[in-house]
Amino acid sequence: MIDINPNNQKQQTIEESITVKGIGLHSGKQVEIKLEPAEIDHGIKFIHTDKKRDNIIEAIWSNVSETILSTTISNQSGLKISTIEHLMSALSGLHIDNLIIYINSVEVPIMDGSSRPFVDMIENVGIKVQNKKRKLLNVKKSIEVKNNNSSVKIIPNDQFSIDFEIDFPSQIVSKQSCQLQLINGNYKTDISAARTFGFEKDVANLRSNGLALGGSLDNAVVVGENKILNKEGLRYNDEFVRHKILDSIGDLYLAGSPIVGYFYGNKSGHHLNNQLLRKLFSDESNYEYIV
Ligand SMILES: [Zn+2]
Repeated sequence: MIDINPNNQKQQTIEESITVKGIGLHSGKQVEIKLEPAEIDHGIKFIHTDKKRDNIIEAIWSNVSETILSTTISNQSGLKISTIEHLMSALSGLHIDNLIIYINSVEVPIMDGSSRPFVDMIENVGIKVQNKKRKLLNVKKSIEVKNNNSSVKIIPNDQFSIDFEIDFPSQIVSKQSCQLQLINGNYKTDISAARTFGFEKDVANLRSNGLALGGSLDNAVVVGENKILNKEGLRYNDEFVRHKILDSIGDLYLAGSPIVGYFYGNKSGHHLNNQLLRKLFSDESNYEYIV
């Protein structure tokens, strides 16, 4: 998110439009998205192409309406788009500030379960530097949100850094922690390839609840009782915690600006990430904008 000298960063969009097709992880539906360059100060907005009116949803924390297994945003008309977090994570990692995302279904395609395909296709068309500085969100006070054994916090820091711990009751996943600063383009190498994951024992239950209908070994790491079911194995030794970081980077980008602060997540997910932003923005003395 924050490179060497954040004060010099300019806003960015993409050089050319990009169209990609895929399947929704939870809906199982085929979906096409088209990313289009957007002007300075536009931000990131989704436009549902099947709807003629009230079809725009801004990718912002206050539009988050559901956080069960993915992050869903809605507009005032009740139009929803879900599983936005991996695409948002790629946009954060590549410092894309302004973008229009046309979508013809209710869920962003899952691709391979990571954000790497989004990163690659954006790098393929190129990133366009725009002639205005990025607005940075500087955290001035420590904010923490807890829920049972899970917690997230953000504290003042001179750059964006992230620290995450997980602890699953599984001998394959169990305890993992990872800390990193996102500098010099390491989002792509250290985070973007980490895939979403799920447990084999949960699959039937998820599907009976209408979730993970598009999930497969092509777009998720599936963890069995004592082994990983994907033949190719893991992409990182600690791929699970790296994916949680990938998710958090995407969720935090819904702040609307890159965050300057230190984020710590402990066994947390989309719900607490959104609660953290809501608490941060609930009091103007918690933050300031650097422009
Ligand atoms: Zn995810």
